[in-house]
Amino acid sequence: MNVHEYQAKEILRAHGVNVQRGEVASTPDEAEAIARKLGCPMYMVKAQIHAGGRGKGGGVKLATSPEEVRAHAEAILGMQLVTHQTGPEGKLVREVLVAEANEIEKELYLGMVIDRDSSRVVIMSSEEGGVDIEEVAANRPEKIIKETVEPAVGLPPFQARKLAYGLGLPQTLIPKATQLMMALYDAFIACDCSLAEINPLAITETDGGQDLVALDAKLNFDDNALWRHEDIEAMRDPHEEDARELEAGKSGLSYISLDGNIGCMVNGAGLAMSTMDLIKLHGGEPANFLDVGGSATTETVTHAFRLILADEKVKAVLVNIFGGIMQCDVIANGIIEAVKQMDLKVPLVVRLEGTNVELGKQILADSGLNLIAADGLSEAAQKAVEVAGNQ
Ligand code: GDP
Ligand code: MN
Repeated sequence: MNVHEYQAKEILRAHGVNVQRGEVASTPDEAEAIARKLGCPMYMVKAQIHAGGRGKGGGVKLATSPEEVRAHAEAILGMQLVTHQTGPEGKLVREVLVAEANEIEKELYLGMVIDRDSSRVVIMSSEEGGVDIEEVAANRPEKIIKETVEPAVGLPPFQARKLAYGLGLPQTLIPKATQLMMALYDAFIACDCSLAEINPLAITETDGGQDLVALDAKLNFDDNALWRHEDIEAMRDPHEEDARELEAGKSGLSYISLDGNIGCMVNGAGLAMSTMDLIKLHGGEPANFLDVGGSATTETVTHAFRLILADEKVKAVLVNIFGGIMQCDVIANGIIEAVKQMDLKVPLVVRLEGTNVELGKQILADSGLNLIAADGLSEAAQKAVEVAGNQ
């Protein structure tokens, strides 16, 4: 799960990370009022969408008065913001963060991710932060310094200092950088994050000298740990989630929207993966990943069909179910029942395997429904690709 920048900053602030003051607004009136309350020489008005690259897309603006904050909020709120992460259709901006702006001397990068190879948290930092970090990673990877954290120890000060020196920070900022990194790591672990990113982490100029401030913040959370973070779960923004994925989650189905045209109804994640692989092998593209789980009932199968068919991209449906705990005859009856309830306009390819498979196939054959039966997984995928292509 993702949250907005303003929410990520609230979380980080609570863990001791230095972030700018600011509040979120959904109208220009509110934006102006927040600016007046903040009462500072410069403000940032920032579109709140779950995507990066907002600055380049025109969703991050500097203002020097509450009136200008209002004008920027008017322009940004309601805009369909297109960035390199939103796709060409962009995302509708419903809220803006109005924050105190800082005078920036230098933009750095600080990120934490779970590295799958080492199964540990890896901290990455670079003195070339800002809007082009992807370009740095691609062309000058030596500019990104990495440190792996030993989970039993946590992030010790010496390791944070090593990263801080690697950033080329002036001596006076080393203690601040160390504290900030340790606070970020603390938040990462406490909130079960899968990613935490501060880009830019800025060296700022203030009256009191230089400071280190997180000007942007991005947090991703491990969905499997959300049950123990009600406060984070409450930050979920349904507008930012795929409506079908949300609905599927409520009924215990695992559903992920993809870009192709073959709807896949499968039980078990491993079978879902191999089904998608075979569709691709035969030259097709899956429209989704839909796992009805080990104990699919007529209700879950009907629900799954409804989700798949609600997607206009779907030109064929491939049902690939292994009757292990469930028996194939029960599944066959479930499919027939579901298809009868739905107005199925696209071809349906069914492959069953497992307990009572012969009986299951017989039930499908006798149903009088227009289904395409397949024996093997590869044959099923091939037929689905073929009929989807003919639509
Ligand atoms: P992103 O483009 O979605 O990653 O949004 P950011 O929050 O990173 O903002 C984009 C850029 O706006 C940053 O790289 C900065 O250059 C600039 N920016 C953000 N906050 C401030 C600020 O407080 N002061 C100034 N001068 N620039 C800022
Ligand atoms: Mn950023």
